[in-house]
Amino acid sequence: MSFRIGFGMDVHRLVRGRDLYLGGVLIPSDSGAEGHSDADVMIHAISDALLGAANLGDIGQHFPDSDPALQGIDSKLILKQVLEMLGAHNYDIVNLDVMLALQKPKISPYINAMKNTLADVMGVDEGQLSIKATTTEHLGYEGRAEGITCYAVALIQNNL
Ligand code: MG
Repeated sequence: MSFRIGFGMDVHRLVRGRDLYLGGVLIPSDSGAEGHSDADVMIHAISDALLGAANLGDIGQHFPDSDPALQGIDSKLILKQVLEMLGAHNYDIVNLDVMLALQKPKISPYINAMKNTLADVMGVDEGQLSIKATTTEHLGYEGRAEGITCYAVALIQNNL
């Protein structure tokens, strides 16, 4: 059985007048993430970690922000397509570990909903998906609440 590891990260700017989607969940917030899609930084980081683990490129390549068909797209659909690509290459997810860096809003009340939502989209057990969050102690763009960063690592295995 062969295992492969992948890493992903994503950043989105926080602006007024946008919704904040994290892990497929709409989070109450006075500002939201700017982007071509729904700008779900967590789903984008996870997608890149999975694509990286399978050596299948990155989401910018598969889902370019120049594509008008992707304008405002629900990022869960991107993640579903990434899972289909992995499936076509006979890969299953072993586990994922996800780390958000943001100053606000406080997202601990929503972590379970994110796990539930994303485990469902990916067809994995919630026990295979770890989601964590940290502030940056008011340092940097995350600390000034100008943007949100998300990091993800994924372990996959060949199911043949
Ligand atoms: Mg992104």
